[in-house]
Amino acid sequence: MILSRRTILNYLYSTGLYSIVSPSFGNIITQDNSHLKNFFKFSVGKINVTVVSDGSFPMPISSIAINASEEEVKSHLEKYNMPNDHINRETNLAVIEVEDKTLLVDVGGGSRFFGNTGKLYENLGLANINPDSITHVFLTHAHPDHVLGIRDEFDENIFPEAEYIMSQNEYEWWTKPNRVNEVEETFQQIVLNAVNSLSALAEVTLYNEEKEIVPGVHMIDTSGHTPGHNSLIVHSEGAKLLICGDALLHPNTSLVFPSWIPENDMDPDKAIISRKKVLSLVTNEKMVLLGFHFPFPGVGHVIPSGNSFQFLPTSVRW
Ligand SMILES: [Zn+2]
Repeated sequence: MILSRRTILNYLYSTGLYSIVSPSFGNIITQDNSHLKNFFKFSVGKINVTVVSDGSFPMPISSIAINASEEEVKSHLEKYNMPNDHINRETNLAVIEVEDKTLLVDVGGGSRFFGNTGKLYENLGLANINPDSITHVFLTHAHPDHVLGIRDEFDENIFPEAEYIMSQNEYEWWTKPNRVNEVEETFQQIVLNAVNSLSALAEVTLYNEEKEIVPGVHMIDTSGHTPGHNSLIVHSEGAKLLICGDALLHPNTSLVFPSWIPENDMDPDKAIISRKKVLSLVTNEKMVLLGFHFPFPGVGHVIPSGNSFQFLPTSVRW
């Protein structure tokens, strides 16, 4: 039997032995390996991409699926040798360098978010990326783990010289006057966080079309998780990468059960359609996928597997 790299990765991943991805699995507790998840560089044709971690945070397993029972979710996680009392959410930001432009995708939760986040600046430094070189910032959506880092510790816009870009539907939904009083009480803080973060920006460029925002990088509508959630497709010399934001949250849940509805999906029906759209794009066109909350660095291929999908994560070298 000849073991291909893909077979080995599949094996490691399915058995949970792909060890930098999770703080614990089965009865093994991994030590602090955070030095392995600062940044990850690869290229898409002529475009250089660096995944930069803003850190990670835990979420309760009740956040994984509101249309599956707790027992069902727990036993599914156990099948994958994952902890059954929480799910770890990495934050894989992307820096895309093309021609004279440097585009950052999402800014992360910054130091005001919970968990072990707020690592963006430190990890940009380790990746040898000067924060002043960032010319554009694209926001996939306005949830706090993606935008709260807009304000630095002095309460100022962290990238004041950059052009911020996001979907018009997204921006207008969150910033609609009196929105905070139209949502449930438990959701009000999330609205306030979004408004507070977006109001730090003097200007935002808004689009509602599949716009090319820097050469070789297009927006694509993947709404549902939030009203105007958008993803990006990066393409160069026949190679393509899809940066899916929160359209897919974790390879072992969203890809196995695309119809599971995460607690934070604001329009569940639309979000399922967007999840399936992303999965069919990456499988049919053999695009590389980058998942914001996937185990670091969140980069890999997706293949169909029966009625669901399987993620084949990258190793350090392809
Ligand atoms: Zn998120």
